[in-house]
Amino acid sequence: MNKKFSPSSDTSIAIFKRLESEVRGYIRSFPVLFDRGVGTTLIDADGREYLDFFAGSGALNYGHNNPALKRALLDYIERDGIVHGLDLATIAKKAFIEAFERWILKPRGLSYKLQFTGPTGTNAIEAALKLARLVTGRANIVAFTNAFHGVSAGSLATTGNKKYRTAAGFPVAHVTFLPYDGYLGPSVDTIDYFEKLLNDPSSGLDKPAAVILEVVQGEGGINPASFQWLQRLRDLTKRHEILMIIDDIQAGVGRTGTFFSFEAAEIVPDIVTLSKSLSAIGTPMSLVLLKPELDVWSPGAHSGTFRGNNLAFIAARAALETYWADSKFEEEIARKSAILAEELNSIANDFPNLGLSVRGRGLMYGLVFQKHHSLPVRISREALRRGLVIETCGGQNEVLKFLVALTIAEADLRRGLSIVRDSIGTVQDSMPKGSP
Ligand code: PLP
Repeated sequence: MNKKFSPSSDTSIAIFKRLESEVRGYIRSFPVLFDRGVGTTLIDADGREYLDFFAGSGALNYGHNNPALKRALLDYIERDGIVHGLDLATIAKKAFIEAFERWILKPRGLSYKLQFTGPTGTNAIEAALKLARLVTGRANIVAFTNAFHGVSAGSLATTGNKKYRTAAGFPVAHVTFLPYDGYLGPSVDTIDYFEKLLNDPSSGLDKPAAVILEVVQGEGGINPASFQWLQRLRDLTKRHEILMIIDDIQAGVGRTGTFFSFEAAEIVPDIVTLSKSLSAIGTPMSLVLLKPELDVWSPGAHSGTFRGNNLAFIAARAALETYWADSKFEEEIARKSAILAEELNSIANDFPNLGLSVRGRGLMYGLVFQKHHSLPVRISREALRRGLVIETCGGQNEVLKFLVALTIAEADLRRGLSIVRDSIGTVQDSMPKGSP
């Protein structure tokens, strides 16, 4: 019997409010019944189109239902390819590993081993932290202010935001937070502080197993670490035999202009976590990359039922072949990044009363409302009304977050930016006179 999916004609979202837990989040910012996604367009149940500047919070770097990736998936399903396979050897998994070695690791001279974890980003972080502790025999981890690494117990301990931390219900521990690059202003190099703590036997810092960080902090407000700061951190951690974990879950897979966010800084971390856009089409998948000498796991010591999402492997492999076999995609990202940065700076200049600033790298940018923290949420709401989905981030939602698909057409990028400009104008006009 052919059981085709046919959507109901009821386009209300009342059932979510009635039956879904209060914990629901994004639906509150975007209270729309979404139906289809094509490239960078979202289509709701009434057929209204929205331009997507959110990209599944970085999980859709190649857009919605990218035809090349979708075709590979449909062919695989059509031939009854294994969908669920624990961590068994499958053709799909083998093809992904071969592609990852060929198009990602080898051209960059990287020799990581691959650990597939449970499918969400936080699963990869848990595995990375556990491994660092196992290898070094030390419990403490250094994380950085404004970090976001997930919300399960271990990763939550490395996440700064109070809203998430207080939801734990118990004190998440064994993590020391240190100031990220720029946290104490542009004139302070926070590595000096870290170095002093490590060299002072009376500093109170328990020697950490690892440092964990994002090269560009995503949820924390689009904070890019300078290459020099990253290099100093790499050097310091090497000298003190502390492992460096780069969390590339949001900033990786091309988001900052190169496949890995740390490439441009010319550093090589000991452990890397990947998720979100790695699977390319939105199916969950996570991966930990570890230097071979760190592979002290005993067989099955860290397990999980969903470590082998074969649909993700198929789409991910297709994406590696389509986008990463040569440097064309990186050049395309650089071109669009220049447009985005220029347009955002122009918007910042056009609203001098709002005191805006721009920060980011690649296609990961933020427009910062330092003077008026409440505005980004209002602008996001106004943009939605005008047909644009755009998120906010930062500890106080003070940043409007530009996370477009890397495959976005230039015309759509410009159209979305113009909606943002108009939305800021509308919100500014509605502010009480004399408030900016
Ligand atoms: N690490 C970073 C940098 C993230 O941005 C996120 C999610 O936004 C995570 C980890 C957690 O991933 P997940 O939400 O899939 O658990």
